[in-house]
Amino acid sequence: PCGVVAFVGLGHMGGPMAANLVRAGHRVVGHDLVPRALDAAVAAGVEAAPSAVAAAADADVVLTMLPAGRHVLALYEEEGLLAAARPGTLFVDCSTIDVADARAAHAAAAAAGHAAVDAPVSGGVMGAEAGTLTFMAGGADTDVARAEPLLSAMGKKTVHCGPAGAGQAAKICNNMILGISMIAVSEAFVLGESLGLSHQALYDVASTASGQCWALTTNCPVPGPVPGSPANRDYRPGFAAPLMAKDLGLAAAAIRAGEVRAELGLRAAEMYRGFAQGPGAEQDFSGIVETLRNEPLRN
Ligand code: NAD
Repeated sequence: PCGVVAFVGLGHMGGPMAANLVRAGHRVVGHDLVPRALDAAVAAGVEAAPSAVAAAADADVVLTMLPAGRHVLALYEEEGLLAAARPGTLFVDCSTIDVADARAAHAAAAAAGHAAVDAPVSGGVMGAEAGTLTFMAGGADTDVARAEPLLSAMGKKTVHCGPAGAGQAAKICNNMILGISMIAVSEAFVLGESLGLSHQALYDVASTASGQCWALTTNCPVPGPVPGSPANRDYRPGFAAPLMAKDLGLAAAAIRAGEVRAELGLRAAEMYRGFAQGPGAEQDFSGIVETLRNEPLRN
């Protein structure tokens, strides 16, 4: 019913997402600048297009899953994706990008006679593979409804968050809670260590008291209390620290642009940036607990 779907950006997330669209019976024409990514998608049943513009020319819906806002805007405008598409094409961007860039992408699509939805995801590569992503959608009701059959082939849930950019806004606000709460949990474990409190004792109390949160009970930053958490496998991700640093960087940009008083969000963005550039480059974001422990404050 969605006709031809163009899918641009077939990387860690886009590749398995496109494969799930094929599995659900959609005809998907894809493109990626990296031949290996394109080849893997073709093996999953995606038809290769020689360029993104070629993929969009015949499409009813154009999905993008790209690194950042500048890639989306460059593709839409300079590279001519919007100009190449038939009028009325639906552009769905699933990348995590700056809220202002998402709004600019909506405006550019509308100016070219198209419809647009921002639909960033949570759930990571495992969610993309399993088709269990959560989509946070921004755009007009009719446009989000038009995207829904595709989103439900790639995910388990779509929340329509509001108009253009609202999906991105929800994504960065949620991840700001997550980033700050992971630091809070980590600081509590490190403080507990300095007070001679065992990890298990703090866990047993906080997990059933008011300190309870996802960062503690699912992604516990110290090994032991939650066997499945990345701390038990040398902080292999999971949710990689550079991705948390990216998302908090977007939150920090929005905090500054809106002159919002979000001091912990700004501080968390700084802390994950440093961690991701150093020991956290290939670790789960919960590995930040080791930085806190190893680099104590001295006054
Ligand atoms: P990735 O780098 O693996 O994939 C991006 C792909 O886009 C690459 O294969 C790249 O070659 C391609 N690309 C870039 N410019 C292009 C262009 N002009 N034309 C065609 N292809 C182009 O990144 P990813 O991990 O798949 O993440 C994609 C987006 O999803 C990011 O915005 C990220 O923040 C977000 N995200 C990622 C995760 C995750 O766990 N990896 C989770 C949630 C959200």
